[in-house]
Amino acid sequence: MEKIVENLRKNGFTVTEFDTREAAADYLVDSLHGKTIGMGGSMTLGAMDVYDRLKGDNTVYWHQIVPGDETISGADNAQVYITSANAISEEGFILNIDGRGNRVAGTLMEKERVLFVVGQNKLAGPFPEALERARNIAGPQNAKRLNKKTPCAVDGKCHDCASPERICNALVVMWKKPFGCKNMEVVLIHQDLGY
Ligand code: SF4
Repeated sequence: MEKIVENLRKNGFTVTEFDTREAAADYLVDSLHGKTIGMGGSMTLGAMDVYDRLKGDNTVYWHQIVPGDETISGADNAQVYITSANAISEEGFILNIDGRGNRVAGTLMEKERVLFVVGQNKLAGPFPEALERARNIAGPQNAKRLNKKTPCAVDGKCHDCASPERICNALVVMWKKPFGCKNMEVVLIHQDLGY
């Protein structure tokens, strides 16, 4: 974990670490006031219960709670974007696979701040292993959760399918912090969270 944190920092990402999801949630709520905030689909963020708390002092767009194109558009154009990651590699690369593309787009738009909130279970080995994790753990588990008619939802393995309900259509790898974003941060939680 220390090596990954060191490499993330070398790649231009801020890293903050917390022992529990509750402490990480408090940090998010304490550090965000008067902002427009977009949130990407995420079991991690769902488990942290931050949406209602952030809404108290910010305008928050999260299609997981309020579905629809207006929410997606509000999230992509927000000042701040919060999501998780499917994996972080040993080299300090942040990986996300997306079906629609809105979640990865939210991290690429020029923002004041992008936060990747990740449990320790998302930390992987070298890049090929991180990609393997994103494809064979995160993908199938999300497909199953979303009741998708895909082969991975049945046997838990990626088949690089051609299903119309495929949820893996775009891969974004943050090698380093893009210069369009003022602050890109990994909020690392020392607990297993999400897929
Ligand atoms: S089988 Fe299809 S939907 Fe499932 S993880 Fe692989 S590409 Fe994604």
